Amino acid sequence: MSESQSPFPDSPLSLWLDTFGDYQPCKELSEHSTVDVAVIGGGFTGVATAHELKKADPGLNVVLLEARTIGYGASGRNGSFAMTVVGLGFGVTAMLRGKEYLRRAHQYMMAAVDGLEALITEEKLDCEMTRPGFLRAATTSKYIKRIQHDVKLMNELGFDDIGWISRTEVQNRVHSETYLGAMLEPRLLLVNPAKLVRAERDLALRRGVKIYENTPVVSLTAFPKFHLTTPQGSVMAEKVVFATNAYSHLFPELKRKQIPAFTYMIATEPLTASQLATIGWEDGEGVEDGRNLIHYYRLTPDNRIVLGGGPVGLTWANSLYHDSNETAWHHLEEHLVWLFPALKDVKITHRWGGPFSVTANLSPALGYVGDERAVYSIGCIGHGVSMSHRNAKALTDLILERESELLTCPFVNPRVIPWPPEPLRLMTAGALRGYLQLEDWWYEREIQKNGA
Ligand SMILES: Cc1cc2nc3c(=O)[nH]c(=O)nc-3n(C[C@H](O)[C@H](O)[C@H](O)COP(=O)(O)OP(=O)(O)OC[C@H]3O[C@@H](n4cnc5c(N)ncnc54)[C@H](O)[C@@H]3O)c2cc1C
Repeated sequence: MSESQSPFPDSPLSLWLDTFGDYQPCKELSEHSTVDVAVIGGGFTGVATAHELKKADPGLNVVLLEARTIGYGASGRNGSFAMTVVGLGFGVTAMLRGKEYLRRAHQYMMAAVDGLEALITEEKLDCEMTRPGFLRAATTSKYIKRIQHDVKLMNELGFDDIGWISRTEVQNRVHSETYLGAMLEPRLLLVNPAKLVRAERDLALRRGVKIYENTPVVSLTAFPKFHLTTPQGSVMAEKVVFATNAYSHLFPELKRKQIPAFTYMIATEPLTASQLATIGWEDGEGVEDGRNLIHYYRLTPDNRIVLGGGPVGLTWANSLYHDSNETAWHHLEEHLVWLFPALKDVKITHRWGGPFSVTANLSPALGYVGDERAVYSIGCIGHGVSMSHRNAKALTDLILERESELLTCPFVNPRVIPWPPEPLRLMTAGALRGYLQLEDWWYEREIQKNGA
């Protein structure tokens, strides 16, 4: 591990973690243990891979080590959208990777969402799941063209459940005068992510996984077996799962494969009945806009608005100390009032942020690290809630070295373009972010001209 201070900073708590209630973490590892598989990281990827491994082979000895508590990373802080989108959306994915890649990626993501719904239902995971539909709302005439292009593209690829709805239809659903039309996609699930990841922890424990929290892996050697050292103990393992997402660069094996970028969120107090009446939103759809650096927002079961996106943070040398960002939070508060002027006096109760994992070609990647004894999963960007669960099944197949249709997915064992070392890394990532921001500005010029 390369950061001299702990790379797992205390961060402002997300709405989900703050309102979780009493949580009893599993004890720290304080002994030496020998296992078949060691999973590093207790987010969706790690916890789901651990319970999938035990489901596939109950005789396997599986241990999971989490640096802080389960859901500390993006899995306990996200926008809660379990969706079919990959990368920066349908159009950009087709442009960067081709239509065939998009078709296969979308099939994978449809199965990811359906598989997550089945898991939650079958295992009775208490996580406030709803399936309310997804709106990608156009807020300028240029976004209308972009989003309609995406709808047409998906329809041409055979995905007929995705459609365009008019300004009147979208505004009837959610009363924001900024909406000029929208893409409607029916598959989206919304969850309480902290409840979900911790319910999956309990499922993993029931299946016999040994879980240690507040147990960072501080060093790892690979021969003759994996030897993982933690502050008070160690683990000898035949195989290792790096479920470390945006923290993966802390391991030399994964240092150049991904970088952390940071996104920020706010949550309002519960809206009153009269405030709710002004915005409609009876079906509680998850909403995003048409930007590159999207805004994403939803209503919670207790009628708060949770809103994220806009400015994206980058750090020198991939430091993980950037979970707070006053500028981004201020931007989100202004955006909320722009969307719903009647909410100008609503109080913001939570402000938080966290790192997501980005590969150099903006595509997810999972596969073997070197030989077939270790696997990794990175690069879900802001779309890992559903994807990480399907990835967990693929990681299980890789660890068990069994063939499966999942392993034919383009995310599995791709060539991962390495990020360059500093200072080029930050310059490259900064230039990419600058381009995306500039394009957003161009798409939004008519709003700026109108003084909004
Ligand atoms: C603010 C925010 C909003 C988002 N919104 C959405 C959304 O609405 N929809 C969506 O699909 N995706 C969203 N994402 C992305 C999504 O949350 C992630 O893709 C997903 O949670 C990744 O899960 P994971 O298990 O791979 O990683 P994480 O949840 O980040 O888990 C990695 C874990 O590994 C642990 N770890 C790392 N290194 C070590 C070590 N050395 N030893 C022990 N433990 C270690 C970390 O502590 C961490 O808990 C969002 C992300 C953020 C930050």
